[in-house]
Amino acid sequence: MATDTRILPLAHPAPRGILWSLFLTLPILIWSLFMMFFRPGASAELLSHIASAITALFMTVLFFMMMRTRNTYRWRRIFFVSLGVLFPIGFIHNLIVMRGSMGIPIEEMIAGRTPFCFMPIPLLILPAVFTRTLVFPGSIVGASGHGIAVMVALWLALTLVMGKGWCSYACFFGGIEEGVAAIPARARIRKLDPRWRYLPWAVLLAMVLLSLAIFEPAYCMWLCPFKAVTEYVAARNMLGLVQNVIFVLLFAGLVIVLPFLTKKRTQCAWFCPFGAFQSIFNKISIFEMKIDKERCKPCLLCQNACPNLSLSKESVARGETLLSCMKCGACVDVCPRKAIVWHIKGTQIAWKPERARLMFLYSAWALAVMFGGSIIAQGIYTILHVFI
Ligand code: SF4
Ligand code: SF4
Repeated sequence: MATDTRILPLAHPAPRGILWSLFLTLPILIWSLFMMFFRPGASAELLSHIASAITALFMTVLFFMMMRTRNTYRWRRIFFVSLGVLFPIGFIHNLIVMRGSMGIPIEEMIAGRTPFCFMPIPLLILPAVFTRTLVFPGSIVGASGHGIAVMVALWLALTLVMGKGWCSYACFFGGIEEGVAAIPARARIRKLDPRWRYLPWAVLLAMVLLSLAIFEPAYCMWLCPFKAVTEYVAARNMLGLVQNVIFVLLFAGLVIVLPFLTKKRTQCAWFCPFGAFQSIFNKISIFEMKIDKERCKPCLLCQNACPNLSLSKESVARGETLLSCMKCGACVDVCPRKAIVWHIKGTQIAWKPERARLMFLYSAWALAVMFGGSIIAQGIYTILHVFI
């Protein structure tokens, strides 16, 4: 490896000035206020306005802290964990109010009276191509604006900008395990077989083929751990009971126990087929993470910090992250030599890394406010509604 003769920046760069940080945050403040007060589902009720104001302030303060401290991961994680916790609160409350239960009768699903989730998107493609039929039992528009067309359009917009950054800034499930992984001070299980990284691809392939064969979104029907905290098919017979037991066991194992023991996002890194599918779009997204090989002395602190197993000794030596990188920034924040950076494809790696970070964060945060912010506001509204 070449000798580094450049003067390296401090491991923890000096914070930005308050005024300059405020100036950089101003566009996000305006965007947050606009998006929260005009979000779908907002009403003229005082509690709805309070929920919108709290959420706009929350998203703005976190962005300000990212600007001021130049640290990304810590502040993004607060947003992401909040999203993961508040989504089921708002969602379950809505289900109970509208249907009296989290269990949805199969007839309701077939009639399309269930909100669409992004998870089955890869499972819809082959059946749609071969038979021109959507195998997800939802409606295209949806009564509350959460139908298939809206969700797919939102997913596409976020994906083209962020690639697999979706899994760090938009997924409303991943925050639960990220929150659990943050609880212990150190990992109980440290040695993780790197071959587990391939499992999501195997699950994706199996679920795509099975969905085509049985003409149902197989992952949603059988393997989604998050059914345990959202809606599920009401169990009326032994088969339904088995489905629900699988959901609960997968949730307990992959979202609670393993993240606690490993301090990694194990459901995302080892199992999620949507995450594997989303990795492909890292090839399209203009943003990526790059390692300056001249700066890097391979201490592998970044590999240890990565919650998604997206770095290996070999990839660090090549100056790259693996395809599964979700651009969370944990590696950037721990690197003592500031060798790993956000990078805009087609530019020199040494091209103003802080500018590339800012461009990524403006895009990601604007979309996070629009998508995740609405969910957070709904969760806050639900809590206010129940307790006030
Ligand atoms: S933490 Fe930084 S210096 Fe250490 S291996 Fe990773 S990129 Fe290289
Ligand atoms: S490589 Fe870095 S940015 Fe990518 S998932 Fe791992 S820690 Fe996050």
